[in-house]
Amino acid sequence: MKIAIMGAMPEEIAPILEKLGTYTTTEYAKNKYYEASYRGVDLIIAYSKIGKVFSTLTASTMIEHFGAEKLLFSGVAGAISSELRVGDLIVATKLSQHDLDITAFGHPFGFVPEGAVFIEADTQMIEMSKEVATSMRKTVKEGIIATGDQFVANEQRKNWIGNTFNADALEMEGASVAVVCDALNIPFFILRAISDAADVDASFSFDEFLESSAKESAEFIMKMVDKLVD
Ligand code: SAH
Repeated sequence: MKIAIMGAMPEEIAPILEKLGTYTTTEYAKNKYYEASYRGVDLIIAYSKIGKVFSTLTASTMIEHFGAEKLLFSGVAGAISSELRVGDLIVATKLSQHDLDITAFGHPFGFVPEGAVFIEADTQMIEMSKEVATSMRKTVKEGIIATGDQFVANEQRKNWIGNTFNADALEMEGASVAVVCDALNIPFFILRAISDAADVDASFSFDEFLESSAKESAEFIMKMVDKLVD
């Protein structure tokens, strides 16, 4: 089995590479891909760079070029739900693109013809994550994640996204990765640890908590890999 572990920024995959210790590095499509063998499975690891386009490219490459059969995303996000605090984990049940807008033609936000407003994540891995959470004595929220090519640092925009998509958290890569995996029939799991509240203080909070939250997420992702291997 070959499992892809993906992040958007170096900080999101650094704890994983550190844990693995040895890996090989391949340059492809202007990015670096790290390959390692872990407990009898092959891992392919990369950070895509920020946003929907780069994450689409990386997810597609991991699957089509490197042969990944499952994809796990680890990273940070801004909270919408008031239940979520910095450091908390959220597992995406489904994802949507909040900045996709052809509403002028009568379509809902997040929709284009032959697409879908929401893409659902793999239910088996979501179930598995509940067992992992219990074994780690962690509370993990399940919820909807909204994705767009914007760092949201604005209460009004955040509330609009929350109300329009019923979303609990927002970030910049999840839904595009979901589209790729759904189209290519690859089960995927998207986990985020909260780095900020997508409000006026978001950039400061993000800078302060990126590393610690990314680590929280990465630790959980490696436990997910352990569970997949067991
Ligand atoms: N500090 C970076 C930019 C970070 S962009 C720089 O200056 O280079 C934010 C990243 O974290 C994205 O990958 C996104 O997925 C996630 N994220 C965290 N909080 C977010 C928010 N409030 N809005 C959008 N994305 C957020």
